[in-house]
Amino acid sequence: MENVVVVGSGCAGWTAALYTARANLQPLVLTGTMPGGLLTTTTIVENFPGFPDGIDGYELMTRMQKQAERFGARTRMATLESANLRTHPFELVADGEPIQARALIIATGASHRKLGLESEAKLENRGVTYCATCDGALPIFRNKPLVVVGGGDSACEEALYLTRFGSVVYLVHRRDRLRASKIMADRVLAHEKIKPIWDTVVTEILDVQQNRVTGVRLKNVKTGAEQLLECAGVFIAIGHIPNTALFKGQLEMDEAGYILTKRGPVTSVPGVFVAGDCADPYYRQAITAAGMGCAAAIEAERFLAAQAH
Ligand code: NAP
Repeated sequence: MENVVVVGSGCAGWTAALYTARANLQPLVLTGTMPGGLLTTTTIVENFPGFPDGIDGYELMTRMQKQAERFGARTRMATLESANLRTHPFELVADGEPIQARALIIATGASHRKLGLESEAKLENRGVTYCATCDGALPIFRNKPLVVVGGGDSACEEALYLTRFGSVVYLVHRRDRLRASKIMADRVLAHEKIKPIWDTVVTEILDVQQNRVTGVRLKNVKTGAEQLLECAGVFIAIGHIPNTALFKGQLEMDEAGYILTKRGPVTSVPGVFVAGDCADPYYRQAITAAGMGCAAAIEAERFLAAQAH
């Protein structure tokens, strides 16, 4: 029987683990398929307080894990497969093994949103990627035209990163203005290697026959005009979808699948708390996720203390 199971190992998960560990609850952390979460796919994190020179995303997550483990958090490289929150203690299954938990902290984060094109699915990892940091340096992208899709901070970050490798980086955005923060937008628009293509969507990625990316078919949403653009890679950065499917029907969620809370990290089920991107469509920052992880841990601790009496 576990006191607290933390599902997810991003900023929210490790902070929840740190606080519950320091409360002597020996939390069990299920890392999921992406240990360290989405931050491990970024390069330098420049906005996490305490690191004036920035810190590598992977390193930050490794440090958080070490800190939580130092106080007794236990890490299991396993993925939660099912969760029955209708009974208490909660009945979980991770990598085929049953686990009972008195309290649950869900910090499952969010996954990359996809365009939903058939050609996108067929060419994933064959030139279509969702992470410039992970794949940008691959030889197939070197000195070739590259396409980034999206207009937010992620798309800008990806485009800037890819200028190191591509001959030119086309930023394809469905509107005529970037959603990104001003500082990122300014950097992107000032970069000589980045060419924005406004009011435009990708309707097909070529070439499925050749099993590699050779270009994209674009459509201007205002004029309807189509064009073909040659490129060796398509980097899709159009936001995220919360990883909450497992809890559907058991926890209150909004239409997009973000878990709704009654107060801070408190969900509709007593003993279940949430933290980070799986419950936060608004801020989605490393530091806000960490803050929610802390709050979730404190709530879990109080819940368990109340149960004990
Ligand atoms: P986002 O801000 O939600 O932006 C998503 C972008 O993709 C938007 O420009 C959106 O267009 C476009 N988009 C969405 N669905 C699309 C579709 N089906 N087809 C074409 N385009 C589509 O997501 P994000 O850029 O991942 O950023 C998420 C959060 O993380 C933000 O709060 C951001 O500030 C933060 N972040 C910060 C940093 C940093 O500070 N260094 C880096 C990355 C992310 P519209 O504009 O038309 O909606």
